[in-house]
Amino acid sequence: MLRNHILKISGLLVLTAVMVPAFSQDAKPDYSKQIFSLAKPVQPPTIEIDVTDAPEVKPWAEEVRKLAAEWFVNIAQILDTDNYKPPKTVTLTFKKGIDPPAYADGKGITIKVEWIKAHPEDFGIVIHEMTHIIQSYNRTPRDTGWLVEGIADYVRWWRYEPETPRPHIDKEKGSYRDAYRTTAAFLAWAVGKYDRQLVRKLDGGLRHGNYTADIWEKSTGKKLDDLWAEFIAQYKF
Ligand SMILES: [Zn+2]
Repeated sequence: MLRNHILKISGLLVLTAVMVPAFSQDAKPDYSKQIFSLAKPVQPPTIEIDVTDAPEVKPWAEEVRKLAAEWFVNIAQILDTDNYKPPKTVTLTFKKGIDPPAYADGKGITIKVEWIKAHPEDFGIVIHEMTHIIQSYNRTPRDTGWLVEGIADYVRWWRYEPETPRPHIDKEKGSYRDAYRTTAAFLAWAVGKYDRQLVRKLDGGLRHGNYTADIWEKSTGKKLDDLWAEFIAQYKF
């Protein structure tokens, strides 16, 4: 299962788009939007595991340690990480009785023991949290939490496990600001239709403290609300 995922991502990372925009002689095509450019591979941190609270999950933790090291490099290439300095160590701590299934902070990732016992197939949760480790945005404008979570779920659901069923999105009440899988599906659609570099550009804005909604418009030629309306009209339920 791990090997399949690795093959899948190496295929994805070398992917350049096959969509070639129609153009006339006067309008030069902008091929840069059709190419998924890669950041330089980063040196992955040492992944440590702490199973003091639940030694019985060690085999699962060891599996995920390998996955986390491989995917750290992949995720860094998906985001705008050219001058990024990875931490030397990321610790995966397995704890009983915490509230969320998992969370990331400055020290690493904490994973709820009861959650992985109930969902031993859920390696993707670590991919989402590892994305947060690499995001480590410290100057994000207010009111961008939906996008931070949307990018983490984009990496998880559209790059790591793209075979999963698509989320249901409420056509009337749904919004790109719903975060998580809804924002992720919107991002994936806009990446495919308009700009393979969109996620990198959004991540760059959040990373370097200059995110504004203009990034969407510059990248796609559409205002964010119009882009959402177009997505909702086309989204297959
Ligand atoms: Zn998250």
